[in-house]
Amino acid sequence: MARLIDGKQISSEMRDKFKVEIARLKAKTDRVPGLAVVLVGDNPASKVYVGMKNKSCIEAGMNSFEKKFPPSITESFLLEQIHFLNEDKLVNGILVQLPLPKHIRTERVLEAISPEKDVDGFHPMNVGKLVTGGETFFPCTPFGIIKLLESTGEKLDGKSGVVVGRSNIVGKPVAFLMLQKNMTVTICHSKTQDLPGVVRSGDVVVAAIGKAEMVKGDWIKPGAIVIDVGINRMEDGKLKGDVEFGVASERASFITPVPGGVGPMTIAMLLSNTLDSFKRTIS
Ligand code: NDP
Repeated sequence: MARLIDGKQISSEMRDKFKVEIARLKAKTDRVPGLAVVLVGDNPASKVYVGMKNKSCIEAGMNSFEKKFPPSITESFLLEQIHFLNEDKLVNGILVQLPLPKHIRTERVLEAISPEKDVDGFHPMNVGKLVTGGETFFPCTPFGIIKLLESTGEKLDGKSGVVVGRSNIVGKPVAFLMLQKNMTVTICHSKTQDLPGVVRSGDVVVAAIGKAEMVKGDWIKPGAIVIDVGINRMEDGKLKGDVEFGVASERASFITPVPGGVGPMTIAMLLSNTLDSFKRTIS
């Protein structure tokens, strides 16, 4: 049976460390990191995510600035607000909760965030640095996935990694981070031929599809490490991942549960990026 990679526990340990470090930095500088979270409209899921981010910041001893706007605001007004946040010395990280209402161009908004405060790592300049291997903010979910892989203690160098999903927020960035770890990476998507065969070649499989149990357990190579990013709400209200957990966990060496695997890491990495941004301003 696979060993569980306990994202909840790892995230909690990381957040405890941040709390101690933030208290130490506060004693030294009389300042704490600040994260501005921008929410436009009233998408219920977005509200929940923003609330969780706000709460986690405060628990870690950071300042959290929630900027809530009605769905009717114009793109130019939002860009102006981002500009103010870019200038605000108390703000070290800016996160715009997606999706935005359709009349606002997401790329314009993400490009307006100062790359030095882009703690979500979505600014094109930071995406470019991720690809070229420069110093940047790694997008939070992919960054969390790498931490989970490292937590296994297994050597990643030279391993074959299969990423299922090529979104800009998960699939593509995690593939580049795995490449930085000297893995040999294959990215799959909805047009990939013989997906089971490709997944079977993976020493590490990252599933980021958004379809419950699409990756069958018997596609998993014996001994592989399986990271399940999917969050799928079932009719009974329960959450399921993108991997058929039961059979997969009989074959894998390590596997993440859903919930309690990748999910808790995303906020921990957001705090990590905001803390790093703050440290750059005081060093
Ligand atoms: P997207 O919908 O943006 O991307 C899904 C990807 O899956 C696409 O690249 C798509 O291919 C691919 N895909 C769809 N169907 C198939 C198929 N039949 N075979 C192979 N590939 C397929 O999703 P996200 O990347 O945003 O999210 C993926 C999952 O991860 C979701 O469940 C989401 O909720 C979850 N998630 C979890 C987070 C966390 O914190 N734990 C954070 C972000 C996401 P194509 O490009 O060809 O359409």
